[in-house]
Amino acid sequence: MAFRTLDDMTFAGKVALVRVDINVPVENGQVTDTTRIDRIMPTLRHIIEAGGKAVLLAHFGRPKGKVVASMSLAQVVPALEAALGRPVAHAPDCIGAMAKRAVSEMAPGDLLLLENTRFHPGEEKNDPELAASMAALGDVYVNDAFSAAHRAHASTEGIARQLPSCAGRLMEAELKALQAALGNPMRPVAAVVGGAKVSSKLELLSNLITRVDHLIIGGGMANTFLAAQGLAVGKSLAEHDMADTARAIVQQAKGSGCTIHLPSDIVVAREFAAHAAHQTLPADQCPEDSMILDAGPETVAAINALLADCRTLIWNGPLGAFEIAPFDSATNACAREAARLTAAGTLVSVAGGGDTVAALNRAGAADSFSYISTAGGAFLEWMEGKTLPGVAALET
Ligand code: ADP
Ligand code: MG
Repeated sequence: MAFRTLDDMTFAGKVALVRVDINVPVENGQVTDTTRIDRIMPTLRHIIEAGGKAVLLAHFGRPKGKVVASMSLAQVVPALEAALGRPVAHAPDCIGAMAKRAVSEMAPGDLLLLENTRFHPGEEKNDPELAASMAALGDVYVNDAFSAAHRAHASTEGIARQLPSCAGRLMEAELKALQAALGNPMRPVAAVVGGAKVSSKLELLSNLITRVDHLIIGGGMANTFLAAQGLAVGKSLAEHDMADTARAIVQQAKGSGCTIHLPSDIVVAREFAAHAAHQTLPADQCPEDSMILDAGPETVAAINALLADCRTLIWNGPLGAFEIAPFDSATNACAREAARLTAAGTLVSVAGGGDTVAALNRAGAADSFSYISTAGGAFLEWMEGKTLPGVAALET
């Protein structure tokens, strides 16, 4: 996959339309988490330092094609200005006369945030006319919103077909990390897939078994696999109706040279609660009145020994109910070992998923991972082997 980056473009005197993901959490008019804003700074700084005019295109919330005042991007302007240390103008539409005037008033090095692209019904329909109206505002298109790239929308896909286009720094970093993990990885490759359900990650599992050497299954998902092998799982979260699917995945993995690893010991409790009375047992000994909430120390030791032999790790989904101590133990221990191996230079580690990122942060391991994707759905679709329309549109 080849795509242009900021280094292949010139920005001096040009209007760069930059698709960003600044769909940040806002409470009482205040942005409460600036992660997404911080991550687009390298791209915005590059453009304005090169003497370009940066015109930001973005969505906010789900206004479903109508103007919804509470979903105006105006409320994000102060946080953008704080991060950049310079003023950011705002136009009340992303196309039309008002947007045109706002762009015409810009000097090189200026920034302008256009209004929520989803106020137009054509955005989510990838309407070529809307894409053309947006494209008419600028000279070049920069996509720095990997997290929106799994959707073929006018501001993510259609517009890229109408202007010279490239990936921004965040998009570039994300694509490089994902290629290193799944495209042409250093082997052996291990994947940790955990979390709540098999049903929500079926396509992920099906793709990974054809790509990785070791698939480590944890969390509620492991319960489904254990149950499918005839083991009692008591009151555990498990999808018994997925037993056939789980057995089919195990069978397919055998055929493609992927070793599946299930917990050999488990931590069980009678209730899903922090510090609930618990015990560690062999995986085939779950009492009828208990639920499996974490993997045990023997499983952790086996996973960590395996990671020491691997060169690449993909991680999605916690190994247990990580929100409630002590059932975060396996997740914490394996995350910290992966972080240590990464820092030591023997492992490339890439992780993504809402709860996964939270769990790795909790473990204090996130900073040492090679790459943490904050892209959610787009990360998962990439790991499922799907083509992301917003990325495909950037390919040269
Ligand atoms: P991500 O958001 O990273 O994709 P998921 O949403 O698939 O991850 O999974 C996270 C959820 O799985 C957490 O809420 C966690 O409590 C739950 N979970 C993990 N293991 C278990 C378990 N053994 N029993 C019940 N819930 C579990
Ligand atoms: Mg989740």
